[in-house]
Amino acid sequence: MSKRGLLIVLSGPSGVGKGTILKEFVNDPALKLAYSVSMTTRSRRPGEVDGVNYFFVTREEFERARDHGELLESAEFVGNYYGTPLKEVEKLRNQGKNVILEIEVQGCMQVTEKVKDALTIFIVPPSMEELEKRIRGRATEPEEIIQERIAKAAREMELIGNYKYVVCNDDPKLAADIIRVIIHRYMESNI
Ligand code: 5GP
Repeated sequence: MSKRGLLIVLSGPSGVGKGTILKEFVNDPALKLAYSVSMTTRSRRPGEVDGVNYFFVTREEFERARDHGELLESAEFVGNYYGTPLKEVEKLRNQGKNVILEIEVQGCMQVTEKVKDALTIFIVPPSMEELEKRIRGRATEPEEIIQERIAKAAREMELIGNYKYVVCNDDPKLAADIIRVIIHRYMESNI
């Protein structure tokens, strides 16, 4: 029987580049990772695929899942719900896979409460100016949502002390390499 996999949480403010970093290492076979697909009520962006990027659901479907205890964590972020389906996480960990979540900070705080040995990694931008530039660069949303994301990012940065590791995303490839090292260390101590 394979040993139970780790629970790894990649978190940090919106626009910091969590997704870009994740792409750099998620398919590295040595890390035995399985990406946990979240549930969300936000609408699909161009190119996003249901069941791959997110499970796109209605508010009613989301609330039902949350109220039935089917989510490991959930949060409302800029007017939409996001959450991690618990069953899938458990199944993958029991198969010996290291499950990785890419989530915002409120959800990460819930995971920390429930899963004491979760490996939590906070991604920070090189500066707040740079973060604002990145959020604007995405430009798929109206100005008021962009403003809300920027204000939220500043508040989210205050939770930095709750994480096991902090990695700066100056260069996504370098950040990914640092995270690879951290995960390897954890895998060795999880024998
Ligand atoms: P976006 O709308 O840009 O895809 O995601 C907005 C924020 O929600 C990002 O910070 C992303 O990491 C976070 N997020 C994505 N999935 C989840 C989830 O399942 N739970 C929580 N708490 N946050 C999530």
